[in-house]
This record gives sequence, C-alpha cells and structure tokens, in this order.
Amino acid sequence: MFWLVFFKFSVVFVLGLIFGSFAGVLIERGEKGESLRGRSHCDHCKKKIVWYDNIPVVSFLLLRGRCRYCGQRISWWHPLTELIFGVTFVGLAWQSGFFAGWLSGDDIWRTVFCLAIGFILLTILFWDWKYMIIPDGLVVGGLVIGVLFYLRAYLLSPDTLLAVNTDLSRNLLGGLAVGGFFYLLWRFSRGKWIGGGDVKLGFLVGFLVGWKLSYFLLLLSYLLGAVPALYLLLIGKAKAGSKIPFGPFLVLATLIVLCWSDRLSHLLKYWF
Ligand SMILES: [Zn+2]
Repeated sequence: MFWLVFFKFSVVFVLGLIFGSFAGVLIERGEKGESLRGRSHCDHCKKKIVWYDNIPVVSFLLLRGRCRYCGQRISWWHPLTELIFGVTFVGLAWQSGFFAGWLSGDDIWRTVFCLAIGFILLTILFWDWKYMIIPDGLVVGGLVIGVLFYLRAYLLSPDTLLAVNTDLSRNLLGGLAVGGFFYLLWRFSRGKWIGGGDVKLGFLVGFLVGWKLSYFLLLLSYLLGAVPALYLLLIGKAKAGSKIPFGPFLVLATLIVLCWSDRLSHLLKYWF
C-alpha cells in the first residue's frame, strides 16, 4: 500500500513539475507573442537549450543556475514556479481522493478536473504576478473546464467533489457575485483599484466556489492581499497607491476554499 501511494505521489509531483515548466514557457512566450513551437533558447547567448538542460528543477540545480554556454544567470523564477506547481498538484490530488486506495473511473475524472483547474489558476497566478496581466484565454479555458466538471458531477451523482455545490445555478450566482463586485470597484475607480482582468477572473473563481462561499472567498483574498501590502508599506518599499496585482491572492484564496470548503462551510455556520 505504501509503495502504491508513494508511486502515485511521485507521478503527480513530477506531473506538476512538468506542467509548471510548461506554464513558464506559456507565460514567457505568450507575453512576447512568440509561437509555442520550437525549442527554448538562452535569452543572453541565443543558444538552443538541449533536453537534458531543460529538466524541471534538476537542470537548474545541476547547472547551478547558469547557462551551460555563456554562464548567464537563469532566474530562480523557473524552478520556483515548477516547485509550487508540483506541491499544489500533490495537494489537489490529495483533496480529490487520488491517494486513497483503489480508484474508480469517477475518482480519476475528479482528479483530472482538479489538476486542470489547478493548472489554469496557477498559470494565471504567475502571469499576473510577473506581468500584471490576466489573459482572457486562460479565464475562458478555466470556465469551460469548470462548466464541464460541474455539469458532469450534476448529471452523474448527488455526491460532489470537494463538497462544493454542484448546482450550476449556484455556481453562476457565485460568478455574478464576485465578478459583479469587482466590476463595480473597477467602474467606480475607473480601473485604479482593480484591473479589468480581475473582473473576469472574479467571475471564474466565483463560479468555481459557488454562491455560498463567494463571500468568504472575497474576505479571504483581501486578508491574504493585505499581508504583503502592509509588509511593503512597513519596510517602506511601497507607498500607498503602489500597484500590487490582486489576481495571485484571488487564486490563492480560491485554491484554499476549493480544497477545504467542507471544513470551511462547517466553520462558517458558527461564524456568520
Ligand atoms: Zn547563454
């Protein structure tokens, strides 16, 4: 049993590293408007990177963070992205029941959906963090996966993944609540408090967590966002009014709510 869990664990972690590496490529090339085809090259000496220098995290360590040819530093951003993807994939697979015993077809579907949503959300997180842009394509992709997932769960069984409500109308209401709230902020501040991309991302994450948890999702994302904002203000690096992208906190809050919603909704009964 131990070896089966260990094997599954390793597969999911490595899968996370690979998808993290892919997300890095997607973000860099998407931002520069380059094609996804063809090998990556060193930004400094333009030499193509051979496959054994392109293994997630491992190559970075073996090369001690430098290009094999010109010695230019490779950003720690890449291994960090890959590691966070790996860890999040393991967490999502765990929550979706992938490590528990033998799996039915339904269990596997659930895990696939979870990881697909995780991939979209994390790619949005890193893209917004680095370039302060939330690409529409990723938001639409997330919505398509979300609709398919809830539709399937709704049609197949009353039991739900992650204890999130399967009723699509409640998902839609959640999307309208969070997206609508951000839309008002965006409208009244004329895009100063919040970006247009956050409005669309708000609709997606509200849809994913559903109406019941959308209020808590907003609260949590503002709490998470306040921590680094206060820290930057305290060490004097940011003045009031400096821009910090909000998308990463919204994604983080969404992952937390999706993973722990069963326990959270239990707590909420007493708190609110
Ligand atoms: Zn180089």
